[in-house]
Amino acid sequence: MAGKFFFIDTTRCTACRGCQTACKQYKKHGVTKTKQYGTYQNPPDLDGNTFRLVRFMEHPAKTNSMVWYFFTEACRHCLKPPCKKKADQILKDAIIVKDYGAVLYTKKTKDLEKSFKAIKQACPWSIPTWSKEEDQIVKCNMCYDRVEAGLPTACSKACPTGALNFGEEAEMKKLANEHLKAAKKKFGGKGEILDLEDVRALYLIIDEQMKYRPVA
Ligand code: SF4
Ligand code: SF4
Ligand code: SF4
Repeated sequence: MAGKFFFIDTTRCTACRGCQTACKQYKKHGVTKTKQYGTYQNPPDLDGNTFRLVRFMEHPAKTNSMVWYFFTEACRHCLKPPCKKKADQILKDAIIVKDYGAVLYTKKTKDLEKSFKAIKQACPWSIPTWSKEEDQIVKCNMCYDRVEAGLPTACSKACPTGALNFGEEAEMKKLANEHLKAAKKKFGGKGEILDLEDVRALYLIIDEQMKYRPVA
């Protein structure tokens, strides 16, 4: 299926949070009040004001005292979105899919408040959030207004290291293959692209998946 894809090379992410901030700025989202809870990750999870979150995961390492993995998380814009499948059983087309692949939560999701938990649970990564401000279910909408104007997403445009990329499927898959090859060379054969057949946000990782984000 053609369309737009993200490619995220986690080995290039410096956790600068440029993507997270650019998303907030473009969406005019306010800050989320939080507190120090033992990590530089902030806020603790995606929320109505945070459609993209850079996760910080720390682990003991053999050669160093610890290793840090950074993971810029947002909706994967699944090819067959389980959230939409669940929502359609309750209210048809409250969630729609654009021809280039953006999965969009419409204003109709306001009427899905009672089913919100089930829709969130249907997402393998627990991405959807209930927004009190917007009074509906929300998440990353692939900057559809920018994309339809021929622009890249705000988050990918802001990334200074080449970790977060956005573009046509063929271009992103080519990039993913090139980065995978380079990663395997650099990290002793380690490296994989996650969920290649299922999502429009392809992540390159070099360690066990569960070390990059909490299990949903
Ligand atoms: S990642 Fe989750 S919220 Fe996004 S389209 Fe897939 S199931 Fe839906
Ligand atoms: S694509 Fe747009 S809405 Fe989605 S995380 Fe990036 S900046 Fe935010
Ligand atoms: S902008 Fe790029 S390098 Fe910075 S946190 Fe986001 S993905 Fe990582």
